[in-house]
Amino acid sequence: MHQQQDLFIGGEWRRPRSDRRITVVSPNSGGSIGSVPEAGEADVDAAVSAARAAFEDPEGWARWEPRRRAEVLRRFADALDRRGEETARLVSSQNGMPIVTSSAVEAVFPGVLLRYYADLVVDTAHEELREPVAAAGKTLVTREALGVVAAIVPWNFPQGLAAYKYAPALAAGCTLVIKPSPETVLDSVPLAEAATEAGIPPGVINIVPGGAETGAHLVSHPGVDAVAFTGSTAVGRRVGEVCGRLLRPVTLELGGKSAAIILDDVDFGLPGLGDGVYGATLANNGQACFACSRILAPRSRYAETVDFFTGLAGSLTVGDSLDPATRIGPVVSERQRERIEGYIRTGVTEGARIAFGGGRPDGLAGWFVEPTIFADVDNHHTIAREEIFGPVLSVIAYDDEDDAVRIANDSDFGLAGTVWTQDEGRGLAVARRVETGSFGVNTYTAEPTAPFGGVKASGLGSELGPEALQHFQRVKSIYL
Ligand code: NAD
Repeated sequence: MHQQQDLFIGGEWRRPRSDRRITVVSPNSGGSIGSVPEAGEADVDAAVSAARAAFEDPEGWARWEPRRRAEVLRRFADALDRRGEETARLVSSQNGMPIVTSSAVEAVFPGVLLRYYADLVVDTAHEELREPVAAAGKTLVTREALGVVAAIVPWNFPQGLAAYKYAPALAAGCTLVIKPSPETVLDSVPLAEAATEAGIPPGVINIVPGGAETGAHLVSHPGVDAVAFTGSTAVGRRVGEVCGRLLRPVTLELGGKSAAIILDDVDFGLPGLGDGVYGATLANNGQACFACSRILAPRSRYAETVDFFTGLAGSLTVGDSLDPATRIGPVVSERQRERIEGYIRTGVTEGARIAFGGGRPDGLAGWFVEPTIFADVDNHHTIAREEIFGPVLSVIAYDDEDDAVRIANDSDFGLAGTVWTQDEGRGLAVARRVETGSFGVNTYTAEPTAPFGGVKASGLGSELGPEALQHFQRVKSIYL
């Protein structure tokens, strides 16, 4: 049982001003596994003040030479790596992510990102002298840290997605108030401990666990300069509206309904294909923004495609998220399971056919849903249009490549996607035509050096890559 009494604000563990607490429930059992204080408005105010003071300190983090910040970021990466196993266990015990996934992603990605941005900020010029085409003199273009960043994080990859925000923001010289989701609050403790151990100065990182109210107060706080949000499209729209009114820079990383396009030359017997497809579709129990939950299958090989996916679903061990054999763990909460089961019922009512799963696995007490494959799905069905955020895939037939691209693009969302083929050139040609922020040819893995974001209802702006470092800087032109 993890019982946390204090909040990490201003570099210390402080007694909260709010007396509310967040209880964390295990999705494996439904039992309580810990609790932390919920940050109320006064706690958010204290966290923003600490971040502002740290940012405005004339000798502080934002004024340090990039090289000096980079050294601390590398130590932060090492301190997080040392806590990787603990972090992976905490994440999996809260959100149901199979421990193999949290060990490979949640435990590792933050360190990778911190080292990448530490190198990048040292290697990037922050001032540039430009030759004039109209003025008499040159112009000095400078880049400075943007200020205090509010980072709002969802529960599905809580540590990885927090690092998408704090790694470039810290490298740029910003300070942060991070708001984890109420479902995943315990993994903030090793994050705060690692920051302290690494020598991140007090107030540069502050953590305010809480729900919608805490998040809304933080996003509109007058002491915040920029917002980095990852979450659902519905909440993202609200956050975007507030930031629009306040003219506050914002990135919105939102939902998806991505397509995995199976080309007619695919070799279903290819070693490793199942693992790659699992990573793009059912990883983290389908609780991934980038999940390709629509499978587009050539009509000529439709039955074979459905067989491949039912075979894949049947081969995945469903079980406790902390068991290294598990490939499908429980979904995050009872409410989320009800939502997913509602979609499964709607799929059947609208005429799709369950080719695999559809129910709850026997003998498991937590919030489990069988990996579920729907066949005979039309792209207009609800299960093909809305984000289910669970282990449910819909196989949709297409006539030819143009039709596949048309169906892939016939979606409100535009986050990710994949194509599976023996011919990489053909795959790349398809990749160029799909309207999404990222796309994989025979793979799908987010890469730190490349921007990650969505188009259409999947978001605004991007994270990762040099673009994210620039996002946390503001430019100034000094005419000479
Ligand atoms: P959510 O939108 O319910 O919550 C996201 C975060 O916003 C949480 O921390 C929540 O407490 C906070 N929040 C809620 N209301 C708020 C408000 N009014 N103002 C400020 N903050 C508020 O999403 P979720 O259920 O935690 O996460 C799942 C969703 O996140 C899915 O839609 C998924 O696709 C999306 N997601 C997107 C990406 C991406 O990079 N595009 C990555 C992961 C998850």
